[in-house]
Amino acid sequence: RCLPVDESEEKTQRQVPGACFSRVNPTPVVNPGLVCASLPALSLLDITEDQVKRPEFVEYFSGNKILPGSEPAAHCYCGHQFGYFSGQLGDGAAMYLGEIVNRSGERWEIQLKGAGLTPYSRTADGRKVLRSSVREFLCSEAMYHLGIPTTRAGTCITSDSKVIRDIFYDGHPVQERCTIVLRIAPTFLRFGSFEIFKPTDPETGRAGPSVGRTDILTAMLDYTVENFYPQIWMEHKSNKDVMYVEFYKEVVRRTARLVAEWQCVGWCHGVLNTDNMSIAGVTIDYGPFGFMDKFDPDFICNGSDDGGRYTYQKQPEMCKWNCLKLAEAIKDVVPLSVTQPQLDLFDEEFGKHYKMKMRQKFGLQKELADDGSLVEGFLNTLQETGADFTNCFRQLSKLPLPSTDNFTEERLKVLTYLQSQSSSVEELVKANQPRMDRRQLAMFMMVAQTNPSLLSALGRSSQLLEREIERMAKLQDLETANHEEIDGNNRKKWTAWLHKYEDRLKKEEEGVHNVEELAEQRVRTMNSVNPRFILRNYIAQNAIATAESGDYSEVERVLKLLQSPYSEGCDLEAFESLSFVNSSADTPAS
Ligand code: AMP
Ligand code: MG
Ligand code: MG
Repeated sequence: RCLPVDESEEKTQRQVPGACFSRVNPTPVVNPGLVCASLPALSLLDITEDQVKRPEFVEYFSGNKILPGSEPAAHCYCGHQFGYFSGQLGDGAAMYLGEIVNRSGERWEIQLKGAGLTPYSRTADGRKVLRSSVREFLCSEAMYHLGIPTTRAGTCITSDSKVIRDIFYDGHPVQERCTIVLRIAPTFLRFGSFEIFKPTDPETGRAGPSVGRTDILTAMLDYTVENFYPQIWMEHKSNKDVMYVEFYKEVVRRTARLVAEWQCVGWCHGVLNTDNMSIAGVTIDYGPFGFMDKFDPDFICNGSDDGGRYTYQKQPEMCKWNCLKLAEAIKDVVPLSVTQPQLDLFDEEFGKHYKMKMRQKFGLQKELADDGSLVEGFLNTLQETGADFTNCFRQLSKLPLPSTDNFTEERLKVLTYLQSQSSSVEELVKANQPRMDRRQLAMFMMVAQTNPSLLSALGRSSQLLEREIERMAKLQDLETANHEEIDGNNRKKWTAWLHKYEDRLKKEEEGVHNVEELAEQRVRTMNSVNPRFILRNYIAQNAIATAESGDYSEVERVLKLLQSPYSEGCDLEAFESLSFVNSSADTPAS
C-alpha cells in the first residue's frame, strides 16, 4: 500500500503504467487438496499443524477463498532476459495475498504461485502444474535448511483443474493438475522491479511502462531501504544520497555472498535474469534449477539455455552483470558515476565469502597462501575423474588429522571411496555427449569464422563451440580407452591430491596443543557445511512421479530429509538409497 497500485482488477494482458502492483483476485480451482506442507515455514506465519488440518485451510491457500484482510495483487516488473531487455514482465502466475506480522514482530510477504491469470500473464495461463510446484516447494525448503538465503514455501496444493503443457503421451497432449505453492519472503521485490522506468532499449525497442516516473522510483527505493535495509535507513535517512549508495553497496555484497553459497553446494539457478534477482539478496524463482551430480564447471540445468549463459561457473559473472543493470535502472536517482565503481565490491565480497566457505568445507582453520591451489586441485580432480561433487566433499571429514594413529588405514578408505565416486568409462561417455550434432557444429564454426556478430545473435559463443570440440575429442579418446587404465588413472589422481591435503593438514596441526579438540572441531565444521543430502534431480523426479499417481508420501519423506541435510544419523536407510547417483535422470526444461 506504500507503493502505487493499479485498481482496475482487469486480468487481461496489458501494459500497466504508473503502478508497481495491480489488484487481481486468484482464480478458484476445482477440489483443492494438500500435497505437502512445511510446518517450519508455516510457523513464520504462526500457522500450526492443527490449522493445516482444518478443511478451510486448502480453500485459503489454493486461492479459492480470500483471507480476511487480504488484498491480492500482482507485481509489475521488467527484466533483462538472457542479456536483452524484455520490457514489462510481471507476476504472470504469482499473486500477493499480503503481509503478515507474526507474534515475534517479524513481517512476511506471502504469495500464491500458480493462482491464475494476471495482467502480466502475457501469452501464458497463470497456472503452475504439479511438477513445477513440487520442485519449487522442495527446493525452497532444501535451500533454507542448507543455510542459504531463500524465499520459503509453506504449502503445495493441487486440484482437479487441468491445464495442458508440453508433455505428450502416445502422441496426445497430457492434461496436468493446476497446483499452487504458498511462498513466503521478506520481500518479492526484484532488480526487475526497478526496471519499469527504463526508456526504450535501442537493442530490443522495448521500454518500461513507467518511463520518467522518478517519483515512483524514489518511493520504491525509500520503501525498500526502510523495510529491508533498516540499519542503513536508520543511519542515513537524513542524507538520502549517501543512503542510496550504501543501499546499493549492500545489495551488491548480499548478491555476491548468495552466489558464493550456491557455488559451494554446486547449485545452479538456471535463469539468472534480472527479474529473478531478489532485491533482498535471497534465492528466488525455482524453475529449471539443479544441483550438480558429477562436478562440471560448464553444467547447464536449463534446457533452453543454448548459449550456455547461465552455466555453473558463469553464475558469479552473471550476477555481477545483473548488479550493473540494477545500477542502470536506478540512475535517475543515484547517478551511475557513484554506483558503478561500487561493483568492485562484488568480486571482493564473493572472493572473501567463497574462500571462507571453502576453508570450512576442507576443515581448515588457518588461512595459508597456497590454499587456493588445494581447492582448485580438488575441483580439477573431481572434474577429471568425473566424480560426485556432494559425496566427495562430504567424505573429506573422514580423513583424520595426519597425527592420528590409524591415519594410513583411514586414508586408504577415503581413497577407495573417492575412486568409487569417480566415473566409469560408460558414465564419462554419457556425460560428454555433445550438445550439438556435427553438422550443426560445422555450420556454427563457419558462421564464427565469417560473421562473428551473427554467431552471438544466434545465441552461441565461440567458447561454447570450443567446448563442443573438446567434448567430441574427449569422446573419441574414450571410445578407444582401456577401462582398467581409466580406473587406475583415477586412483593415481586421487592419491596425488590426498597427499597434498595431508601436507596441508600437517600445517593445521603445527603449534596446536590440543590436537584432539582441533580434530573434533574440524569434523563438526566440515559436516555442517558439506551436506549429506541434497535435492538431486532424480530424487525430485521420483517424488513427482509418485505424486502424479496421487501418493504424496514420497514428497513428504524427501521434505523430511531435506530438513536436516547435514545430519549423519537420521533415517540412515533413506539416506543410503538417496545418496545413490543416477546420472541418467533428465533435466526438465523450465
Ligand atoms: P521466469 O522465467 O519464471 O522468470 O518467468 C518469466 C515471465 O513469464 C514472468 O513475467 C512470469 O510471470 C511469466 N510466467 C511464467 N510462467 C507463467 C505462467 N504459467 N503464466 C503466466 N505467466 C508466466
Ligand atoms: Mg521469474
Ligand atoms: Mg519461473
